[in-house]
Amino acid sequence: MAAVSFPAGGPGTPVSAWIGLGANLGDARAALLGALDAMARWPGSRLLRVSSLYRSAPVDAGGPDYWNAVAELATPLAAIDLLHALQAIEQAAGRERPYRNAPRTLDLDVLLYGDERIDTPELTVPHPRMGERAFVLQPLAEIAPGRVEPARLAAVQSQRIERLGPFWP
Ligand code: ATP
Ligand code: CA
Ligand code: CA
Repeated sequence: MAAVSFPAGGPGTPVSAWIGLGANLGDARAALLGALDAMARWPGSRLLRVSSLYRSAPVDAGGPDYWNAVAELATPLAAIDLLHALQAIEQAAGRERPYRNAPRTLDLDVLLYGDERIDTPELTVPHPRMGERAFVLQPLAEIAPGRVEPARLAAVQSQRIERLGPFWP
């Protein structure tokens, strides 16, 4: 039987989750906006903050520049249900996974889920590679400065990233 998990406060208590959004194929800006719009429509979930839109160089990969943002979502969804709901949005945007770090129409990662630490085969939170990525740390620091260590942000300063400006709502 599938395990049923609830947010730390108990079933139905909204938790703040920070979602990393990225895309570098097709109309990436529209894909990010579409994903935010879809999350905002989930019953009981609410977008609390959305970072500016950023443009960044691919990390450990080739291909076009990425469009990135980070959003804080208050959601009653258990973490694993949140992941599955995000994956459904990726699928609807035509996400394919031909190889690791391949260019993509839409990528939605669970960066943080409240203060929880989760380590299962399907889901690891905090996202295990977020601390090495300027395209995560910079937008996250913009909307949740308390969740980013300044030393971490300083350590990724050599990665190319440009703030394009606000784009939501
Ligand atoms: P990276 O994880 O390095 O950012 P990626 O986003 O390209 O790489 P995907 O192909 O989108 O990787 O996802 C691979 C798997 O990662 C997913 O099937 C999912 O089960 C797993 N995963 C583990 N932890 C997380 C998380 N915090 N957020 C999203 N996916 C996760
Ligand atoms: Ca990712
Ligand atoms: Ca992903």
